[in-house]
Amino acid sequence: MKPTMSDETVAEERAEFRSAILAAGLLVATGVDGLYQRSGKFERVVRAVEALASRSAGDKGGSQYYFSPIMAREAFERTDYLRSFPDLMGAIEVFQGGDDEHARLLRAADQGQEWSQYLTLAEVALCSAACHPLYSSLTGTLPAGGGNFEVQGYCFRHEPSLDPVRMQSFRQHEFVYVGEPDAALQHRDRWLDRGLDLLSGLGLDVQAEEANDPFFGRAGRMLAANQRATALKYEITCPVSSSEVRTAITSANCHESHFGDSFGIFTADGKPAHSACIGFGLERITLALIKRHGVDPASWPSEVRGKLWP
Ligand code: ZN
Repeated sequence: MKPTMSDETVAEERAEFRSAILAAGLLVATGVDGLYQRSGKFERVVRAVEALASRSAGDKGGSQYYFSPIMAREAFERTDYLRSFPDLMGAIEVFQGGDDEHARLLRAADQGQEWSQYLTLAEVALCSAACHPLYSSLTGTLPAGGGNFEVQGYCFRHEPSLDPVRMQSFRQHEFVYVGEPDAALQHRDRWLDRGLDLLSGLGLDVQAEEANDPFFGRAGRMLAANQRATALKYEITCPVSSSEVRTAITSANCHESHFGDSFGIFTADGKPAHSACIGFGLERITLALIKRHGVDPASWPSEVRGKLWP
């Protein structure tokens, strides 16, 4: 398909935004599309956004966990990510051979040949969503009323892109509820409103939109249609690297009993637990703030600075 004038404008604006961020030293390019190192200046905003989200929960955020970027492969398989998003996942391979295999591996590497044939799948995998490592810790019966959790973790999505909002490795700061079906829906809706307030308070042009995940393949089209029909997923969108295209900077999801069934989590009355989460995309929100207020956080409006650094 021939790109339209508008496609070209969007691509140009994205490229300009990327150059501005790199020139200001906020992010450092690595030579791999979608992989950046963060400067102290960028990270300071990330941590302020995290703290603001955390404060907005009052004392109701629940138990806090900071997850490792990798999780047990057995738990990863239970999330069903392999079935729904095989094109986005990241597996980890390790070397477990002896001297002979090592020699063959080095020979292949020295000759610039494929050497992954000498590796085997590890017992760990890269996390795809910040809440995934939570569920295996909840297997069993929940206390009456379920539980609230505030979690953060690095997520991996294999979708290399020059658009700075589409990183391969990024953090989500999530508020998760696991328990009764009605309470799960209420959790998502309450947090969607709270998220809109929080982000519009930072001067961002945000709105909530019904959304659906990019499920893979033919079976995935059915899953996507079902997710749309049942309005399980909402996103808070905002123009980030392009003023013409809105990007999701936060998403609020109801999983019904998906994780309850997969991980054997039951409510106090013995039914499969429902769950819901809202995930604040920390890098994306930071980029949205940079796009809106400029590359120097020291010169952002005092009202915005006051909220981020009270
Ligand atoms: Zn989640």
